[in-house]
Amino acid sequence: MSSTFKLAEHFISINGEGRCAGELALFLRFAGCNLRCDWCDTAWACGKDAPCEIVGLPRLMQIAEDAAAQGVRNVTLTGGEPLLQAHIGELIDRLGKTLGLRVEIETNGAVPLEPFRKCGAVFTMDYKLPSSKMEQHMCTENFALLREWDCVKFVCGSRADVFRAKEIAEQFEPQCPMYLSPVFGRIDPAEIVEIMKEQKMGSFRLQLQLHKFIWDPTARGV
Ligand code: SF4
Repeated sequence: MSSTFKLAEHFISINGEGRCAGELALFLRFAGCNLRCDWCDTAWACGKDAPCEIVGLPRLMQIAEDAAAQGVRNVTLTGGEPLLQAHIGELIDRLGKTLGLRVEIETNGAVPLEPFRKCGAVFTMDYKLPSSKMEQHMCTENFALLREWDCVKFVCGSRADVFRAKEIAEQFEPQCPMYLSPVFGRIDPAEIVEIMKEQKMGSFRLQLQLHKFIWDPTARGV
């Protein structure tokens, strides 16, 4: 069977978050997600009927090659949940080995990372906190698989979320940077900083979603 993918959109922009925030990246957004977060900003790409193009590996490689020719060095696989694509491992391998791109995977924390631990990609793994209403789906065994070049993103939609992030970090001690990322419009980033100070959360970093400040927060393809 040939490898096909459900591609919801692709575009070049800056990484809005993660370890390479601010760097140019090619975004490949895949359709379909196994979660339904309360504050999801890409809900349009999550359902079974999400608008998408069915594409083969050669088409994705062509898109990536064109981006590389424009000087882009990063490719971010996102969604939805990109790890649900059946042939994603093959794509990661080809993007890294053939084109020499740094491959970053934005994953939702509800897919086991074990099958992907030897792939050459960098993980930005979400941990869904209570305000998402999806915390019960988190695969906490993933924490032990994260490497120093990966990162965990705690998306905070409430004050309670920030306290919960602290508890989770103390329990699982991930060996990589940990970001606190406010849900745009739900919590004032200044409030998160206040809690970080009060709670001695020196091992966390606040990270704002850059693209929400540069462009219209509801804009797609940026
Ligand atoms: S995991 Fe991401 S894409 Fe899926 S519902 Fe949650 S926020 Fe949306």
